[in-house]
Amino acid sequence: MTPGQFNQPKLRVSGATKVYSTRSGDLLAIDRCSLDVMDGEIISIVGPSGCGKTTLLWSMSGLHGLSSGEVLLDGAPITGPNPEIGMVFQDANLLPWRNLDANIRFPFEIKGTRPDRIWIDELLNRVGLEGFGGRFPRELSGGMQQRAALVRALSYKPSVLLMDEPFGALDAFTREEMNRLVEEIWLDTRTTIVLITHSIDEAIFMADRVLVLSARPGRVASVHEVPFARPRSLEIMSTKEVFDLTNTIKAEIVGERQSRYRQGGAAGAVGAQQATG
Ligand code: ADP
Ligand code: MG
Repeated sequence: MTPGQFNQPKLRVSGATKVYSTRSGDLLAIDRCSLDVMDGEIISIVGPSGCGKTTLLWSMSGLHGLSSGEVLLDGAPITGPNPEIGMVFQDANLLPWRNLDANIRFPFEIKGTRPDRIWIDELLNRVGLEGFGGRFPRELSGGMQQRAALVRALSYKPSVLLMDEPFGALDAFTREEMNRLVEEIWLDTRTTIVLITHSIDEAIFMADRVLVLSARPGRVASVHEVPFARPRSLEIMSTKEVFDLTNTIKAEIVGERQSRYRQGGAAGAVGAQQATG
């Protein structure tokens, strides 16, 4: 699928601004961030540490409110946690005293709803965890725990999956496996995905568009299209196109690009307009 094929915004973030009140005063974490995430699109968000990526993602999920601006899901404002939105964090956050099955059941118990066992078994199968339902988190590797967290997030069939550096703690090989797994799941479900990552390679491999946030306060610095069809092969990562894009994004994150822009170059501005317009 190419970005041109998306026609409906699934999530619309407009003017998202978040100020945290801290003991040492107000802290502007994100400032007027706007972007549309189209239905079925995968967007990666990268940016310097502390620039407000998690803050932006939490706003999209309804886990916390904005100081100003709004987030719309299918045109309706998000005001709190929503079953249409699944989340995966860097830590799998599995409850250590519950086995895998009981961990996956947990959100359903809280909501008092019945899990779709067939769908969950299908997911467990898909991520290679069939037969592991009786295992406790300590008996699973980091990669397996993250796969379980992914199953838990997808178990109630969200239409949007938000992931905050979900594979950041995994080794490079396991991370690549997880990327392919998410791609496979996307091919089946066409779930809209927002992925925060500190790996530019991962950001590019996964996304239809890579959004770069500026240093805090996080603003949308640029947006880059990644026009490769899925399933993608790892070979795209060694093309000149990806090599150049990787370097562009790296330069933006370390700020070189911005200073060149101030001197009169055209870097970055086109994508940013796309995201905010
Ligand atoms: P990132 O995910 O890009 O590393 P965060 O969104 O976690 O950035 O944080 C952005 C800024 O907001 C940081 O300076 C961080 O210290 C601050 N921050 C994050 N959460 C809170 C909070 N609950 N209270 C106060 N400050 C916070
Ligand atoms: Mg973060």
